Amino acid sequence: AAKPQNRRRIVVLGAPRVGKTAIVRRFLQDAFEEQYEPTAEDFHSKVYRIRGHTYQIDVLDAPGERGFPARRRLSILTGDIFLLVFSVDDRGSFEEARALREEILAAKAKLAQPGGSARVPTVVCANKADLEPGARAVSRAEACRAFAGDCALFETSAKTRANLDDVFEAVAARGGLPSETR
Ligand code: GDP
Repeated sequence: AAKPQNRRRIVVLGAPRVGKTAIVRRFLQDAFEEQYEPTAEDFHSKVYRIRGHTYQIDVLDAPGERGFPARRRLSILTGDIFLLVFSVDDRGSFEEARALREEILAAKAKLAQPGGSARVPTVVCANKADLEPGARAVSRAEACRAFAGDCALFETSAKTRANLDDVFEAVAARGGLPSETR
């Protein structure tokens, strides 16, 4: 089915257990579930009305046991806004987020018009920032070097809700919804 004009697909990607589901739950506190996507896919993908706009939110573990590359590729190709999540206490999840950013850029570059460049709005959450400093495996400076150049980067906590409002603002601001629906 064709995607309605005023619907935007938010693709939430990151290693398992970094807090993707927890962040999306926070995101949806002021939303209600509009409908289930009629699909047999085994990743989460649902449509929501949030503050008057319609969003489809895909949540994918990468590289999850069931994370078929084809599934991820389809989400990436159809995604409008990307929310990459890693956990500050999990170095592997940071590397995974960097690899995902590259994968997204490469996939979108193939879709871009010749001579044009793909615009790939991406928001990055360095999550679990509430953990004590001793638990940290990725410094704030390192995350900035990796992502701050071309992504919006936030230190977040789904536990304390720290900075999540800013994340949602950034996602909405990058949503590119047609102006008449703003
Ligand atoms: P997902 O697999 O990426 O969707 O991760 P979940 O949202 O299921 O979270 C994995 C685990 O991390 C759960 O036990 C959460 O309670 C915990 N968690 C998620 N976000 C945070 C956070 O910001 N801080 C802390 N301390 N724990 C978190």
